[in-house]
Amino acid sequence: MEFDTPQTPDDALKRLLEGNQRFVAEETLHPRSGFDRVRELAASQKPFAVLLCCADSRVVPEILFDQGLGDLFVVRIAGNYVEDGILGSIEYAVQYCDVRLIMVLGHERCGAVQATVSAVFEGKKFAGSIAHLIEAITPAVESTRKHPGDQVENAMRANILHNIETICNSEPFLKPLISQGALKVVGGRYDLDSGIVTLF
Ligand SMILES: [Zn+2]
Repeated sequence: MEFDTPQTPDDALKRLLEGNQRFVAEETLHPRSGFDRVRELAASQKPFAVLLCCADSRVVPEILFDQGLGDLFVVRIAGNYVEDGILGSIEYAVQYCDVRLIMVLGHERCGAVQATVSAVFEGKKFAGSIAHLIEAITPAVESTRKHPGDQVENAMRANILHNIETICNSEPFLKPLISQGALKVVGGRYDLDSGIVTLF
């Protein structure tokens, strides 16, 4: 199987989803993970996708998408939301590494989202800097107040959409590239039970 770096947003997405299919089927190839790849990458990197994902120990992009060293530019923060430093990291990957795909990857039963749901709907208080996470995720949770069904699941999805919107409206770098079709932003939901990433 050939593992050249994808050149278009759609090829990059296809590469990710094929990797997740291998992971779920327990047919992982662990591509580009040997020391020859370390040497190949020593001078420069050319990852094909940015993953904005949760810090949760169960959500590990290189493993669940079966990708190798230098393939994914991963930005992790509990609750997978955009703040200044996160946005700067994403811009770096797009501007200096020519990445053409950004995936905001949320997941089932996210602790940061659960905490925000309990803060917003039950008035629970959190000490220290966790309050900072809660504050950032609160607008997405608030938007689901009247939605039927599972509150945490609704909030997780709303949080992904909220952050995709933030990325898509980010100026001066990301918005023009997205408008031109040179850069694509997608949302993904990682299912902890099945290992499947579903796009939405
Ligand atoms: Zn999480």
